[in-house]
Amino acid sequence: MSETTERIHCLIIGSGPAGYTAAIYASRANLKPVLYSGLQPGGQLTITTDVENYPGYPEGVMGPQMMKDFEEQARRMGADLRWGMISKVDFSQRPFKVEVDEEKWIEADSIIIATGASAKWLGLESEQRLNGYGVSACAVCDGFFFKDKEVAIVGAGDTACEEALYLSKLCSKVHMLVRRDEMRASKVMQERVLKTSNIQVYWNSETLEVLGEKTVNAIKINNTATNEVSEIPVSAFFVAIGHQPNSGMFKDYLELDEQDYIVTKPGTSHTNIEGVFACGDVQDKIYRQAVTAAGSGCMAALDAERYLGALEHSMAATENMAQ
Ligand code: NDP
Repeated sequence: MSETTERIHCLIIGSGPAGYTAAIYASRANLKPVLYSGLQPGGQLTITTDVENYPGYPEGVMGPQMMKDFEEQARRMGADLRWGMISKVDFSQRPFKVEVDEEKWIEADSIIIATGASAKWLGLESEQRLNGYGVSACAVCDGFFFKDKEVAIVGAGDTACEEALYLSKLCSKVHMLVRRDEMRASKVMQERVLKTSNIQVYWNSETLEVLGEKTVNAIKINNTATNEVSEIPVSAFFVAIGHQPNSGMFKDYLELDEQDYIVTKPGTSHTNIEGVFACGDVQDKIYRQAVTAAGSGCMAALDAERYLGALEHSMAATENMAQ
């Protein structure tokens, strides 16, 4: 490891709603936070279009604009916002050490991890091309735009079931594509889906293509049991095949669950390492909303403030003893 070049009181990794909210609170608590934005500044919201469920925007707001607003507010409060990617961490010693852009090492007394999660996609060219134009990985965010329309959803886990049920209340019909002859979701969720009259489940079905020039107008599927190819006219295509939390860099130090989400102590942002906090989607596989991420960013800043306060207190006491 090369020489460290800087000592930071409160380092925030990630720039979605969780990271920026942590930065706002940490700045106001005079923790002089430094935030590294990562490869996708603004996070997942920068690849969505309208956001209508974030309180405080009565007319709705575009995802990228909302993240600009968050960023501006964090900057105005005094947060030091930096482009750059944390490439490695070493939590085995204090202060913690982190590598930036594979170039330099810096030290941090406390760290707030807000690196988010990435939705998994099928990997189809048409899925990418129509992303934001009828293709979405978030039914709660985008379902409303397809009120009374027919839509499709792919996936068979709890998320897909939950989102299919959510869509069934808004849309006239939900076509649910399951790639095997059974679902992975919990029994209770499966039962709810199967009992909902306007959800039609297609077993053994893989998506071949999302059809549409500028917006989605149908999907082409293949029944893998019969090899029958068919088209279903729909206005939207929701992908709910899981998320990958961006936690790989921390796996040698932090406790992760079986799906790689960082484990936090219930009701707090504390990880298994004192002084390292986690917030937002990297530690939340259930809610995954901008507003819940922001709320947990606030929690992480308050937890960091308490931790740093106690640390300073104990350091002052040690110095007094030595004198
Ligand atoms: P999961 O990993 O549980 O499920 C992903 C689903 O997507 C599986 O059914 C999988 O199929 C399917 N899939 C994966 N890749 C493809 C593909 N290329 N084409 C078609 N289908 C595909 O992810 P979830 O997001 O559903 O859930 C993650 C975790 O969060 C789970 O532990 C879940 O229980 C939990 N959760 C809990 C909730 C709650 O308690 N209310 C709500 C939401 C999530 P296959 O089964 O064939 O592998």
